[in-house]
Amino acid sequence: MLLFHDVVVALSRARAALTHSGEPNGVVVLGATGSVGASTLNVIRRHADRFRPLVLTANRNWRALDKLADHWSPEYVVLASRQPPDFAPRWHGEWRFGPHALVEAAAHDSADVIVNAVVGVAGLEATISAVESGKRLALANKESLVAGGSLVVEAARRGGGEILPVDSEHSAIHQCLAGTPASNVARITLTASGGALRDRSGQDLLEATAIEALAHPTWDMGQKVTVDSATLANKALEVIEAHWLFELEYDRITAVVHPTSIVHSIVEFRDGSAIAQMSRPSMEIPVLWALSCPARLDDRRDALGFDPLTDGPLEFLPIRRDDFPLFGIGVAAGRTGGELPAAFNAANEVAAARFLAGDLRFGDLRAVVEGTVERFGSRAPASVADVREIDSRARRAARGIADSRAKNI
Ligand code: NDP
Repeated sequence: MLLFHDVVVALSRARAALTHSGEPNGVVVLGATGSVGASTLNVIRRHADRFRPLVLTANRNWRALDKLADHWSPEYVVLASRQPPDFAPRWHGEWRFGPHALVEAAAHDSADVIVNAVVGVAGLEATISAVESGKRLALANKESLVAGGSLVVEAARRGGGEILPVDSEHSAIHQCLAGTPASNVARITLTASGGALRDRSGQDLLEATAIEALAHPTWDMGQKVTVDSATLANKALEVIEAHWLFELEYDRITAVVHPTSIVHSIVEFRDGSAIAQMSRPSMEIPVLWALSCPARLDDRRDALGFDPLTDGPLEFLPIRRDDFPLFGIGVAAGRTGGELPAAFNAANEVAAARFLAGDLRFGDLRAVVEGTVERFGSRAPASVADVREIDSRARRAARGIADSRAKNI
């Protein structure tokens, strides 16, 4: 498996990269038109002496990509979908189209860092491409590790690539560990804001709609991850992500609700000492760490500073597993392994999309995800094609269940 050895390798390689003076480091931003993409470009804007965007990508939103290209003048841009019929960009640089162009960009020869901020399992091939070609991968796209964890780790071994987590919880763990071997870790605790539905229960929770779920109390994020945060499916995805990133068995990974999102994660070591990473919620902090690690660049902004007098008390609560069943279903899928994590991810993507479309209520999500996952077995995917096959089968099953539930609304 990846990890501590690889993280240590990553740190020494990063040191070399960052002391290399002259040209700013080239950054490929996959998913540049999204929320993490915007955070990444904000970080790059403040550190233009260190980083420059080399390639920017989107899926369908060519107008937003056009504006970004006009502003940043990258080497080229990619629209992962086909060229749309009404395509008439203002930016006259090079446009590439299709999912293969996304994968190519992830292995760009002159790139120093690839930021994968694509949403969903669509980011899997790009993740593999980046680490297989020996790049530093700043990974926000947790779905690729959930669906294809062992394949990503093997590709990183083969190609010598390194993964720097962008998810705030995993960035926190990475920072707390500072290269300490896994054998010294007793337990890691991921924190969860609890999402917009945290204080609801009973019928009030079961009937919650996506509009209510989108009112996130602490983070401003893309729609899918905001829904995942409200259902706590996000925390299950993150437990699986942590398992692969930090080479920890599931018994050593736990999660708690921490409503104010100040403590991003806690690492407890064998000797009883626990280290936490804290900041007010901003994705720009983990993005900067993933780009600059092991250097700490000057980036303090007053509104985001941590103040123990005003940011306390720090409250932690257990996850209400009965009320938020996707958490337990996802963690169980991770523990069982085989086809289940990819099936869980696919079912959750379908459930979140149908919830967002207004077809399902919160109370329907369990049936869609659980009813899908239980159809899958223990044979682990041996290739990306296997993951794709599991993903399509799970999507079909999940859509079928979602259709039958949608009729009840
Ligand atoms: P957004 O929905 O805001 O943005 C997603 C980006 O991915 C957009 O650029 C979108 O392009 C692109 N995209 C969507 N579908 C595809 C596809 N099939 N192929 C290629 N590109 C695609 O998502 P977020 O920025 O919120 O999240 C991105 C990832 O980061 C997710 O995995 C999420 O879980 C993770 N994450 C997000 C956090 C946040 O604060 N937002 C926090 C921690 C993790 P287009 O604009 O054309 O649709």
